[in-house]
Amino acid sequence: MDFEWSEEQKLLRATVREFAEKEISPSVMEFDEAQKFPSDLMKQAGELGLLGIMFPEEYGGAGFGYAEYALVVEEISRVDGSMGISVAAHNGLCANHIHLFGNDAQRRRFLTPLASGKWIGGWSLTEPTAGSDAGGTRSVARLDGNHWVLNGSKTFTTHGSVGDVIVVFAVTDKDKGKHGISAFVIEHGTPGFRAGKKENKMGLRASDTAEVVMEDCRIPQDQLIGERGHGFIDAMQILDGGRISIAALALGMARGAYEAALGYSREREQFGQSIAEFQAIQFMLADMATKIEAAALLIAQAAWMKDQERNVTKVAAMAKLFASEIGVEVADRALQIFGGYGYVKDFPVEKYYRDMKLCTIGEGTSEIHRLVIARELLKSL
Ligand SMILES: Cc1cc2nc3c(=O)[nH]c(=O)nc-3n(C[C@H](O)[C@H](O)[C@H](O)COP(=O)(O)OP(=O)(O)OC[C@H]3O[C@@H](n4cnc5c(N)ncnc54)[C@H](O)[C@@H]3O)c2cc1C
Repeated sequence: MDFEWSEEQKLLRATVREFAEKEISPSVMEFDEAQKFPSDLMKQAGELGLLGIMFPEEYGGAGFGYAEYALVVEEISRVDGSMGISVAAHNGLCANHIHLFGNDAQRRRFLTPLASGKWIGGWSLTEPTAGSDAGGTRSVARLDGNHWVLNGSKTFTTHGSVGDVIVVFAVTDKDKGKHGISAFVIEHGTPGFRAGKKENKMGLRASDTAEVVMEDCRIPQDQLIGERGHGFIDAMQILDGGRISIAALALGMARGAYEAALGYSREREQFGQSIAEFQAIQFMLADMATKIEAAALLIAQAAWMKDQERNVTKVAAMAKLFASEIGVEVADRALQIFGGYGYVKDFPVEKYYRDMKLCTIGEGTSEIHRLVIARELLKSL
């Protein structure tokens, strides 16, 4: 057992922390209020190699694993969850899908500009009537000569309107159920492919979340990613890894909220002493810190197992479920410690509170995670 990060990992953490604190932090509230996607900051993240963290250098990536990927998402989210979810969706969903299931030509064409940060990527599985039950996908793709023609609409796609390229899922073989869903990669600007409504969200407001609409969208046959009919199965594999990054998103925001509350508790005085001297506040801080460390260990374990190419369905779901639920609790406690000042936008905790809630919903709700964990537990009986 070794609980120490390597020197390389420590350097990576320090580099990302510096980037987040110096470059992202000053404009966090401005982007949040304006619901403005931080394009320039994402470009800078690309230059630092943060948009191709886990991909081989031959495709423009940084060649790290899941442990480093989780670390990067955590450090960015500690300062801004909006940038955190963008980095996670770009790397873990879109680019990773193309990396794992695309052929060499597709990787060169789509993964290379994604990994270098030249392009921003999205991944469109959810539909208005197919959320937790993604197997109920209704978008369709039919072959017409050498082209696929896609019709349908997707909802809640991260980077749905700002993404340069999006991986979308559509039914190619209706009678085969979940085994009749395939994945396609489509560039924005392709006729018949457009962004729909951009969501006005409660939190993570600088991240772009939008509908994606396909109306007789014709794409060449070679934009099918992976095997025909294997899209849903591949998506589940992508989500296994993606869950580690949503857990890291929650962990980073929890750390940010906790650190803000710890600092404030030392400065704020009531009844002639700092509020940190009240045992009620100390107990809140102790519980927050303990839960954060427990989440960090679950995430480190899941990331390590993923890097060992072991099955992470159960541990990644546990890490995501636990980190997101304690994240909501930690953000709530942090706001409580700030009292009335926690409720106003001059201090950072109201934003952590708003942003954090997504973590119990996105990439599978807490309820679905409990189902996944229980299924894995019962399998082993
Ligand atoms: C900000 C944001 C970004 C997102 N980004 C993406 C993205 O990039 N790509 C993408 O494809 N999707 C994305 N999503 C969609 C997200 O993954 C879905 O919202 C999520 O999977 C839940 O689906 P739903 O919203 O349709 O809820 P529903 O599935 O309708 O669930 C509603 C409620 O019913 C519960 N429920 C459903 N089924 C069961 C069951 N079997 N047992 C018990 N309870 C159940 C749920 O837990 C939930 O409480 C994003 C969502 C948000 C809000």
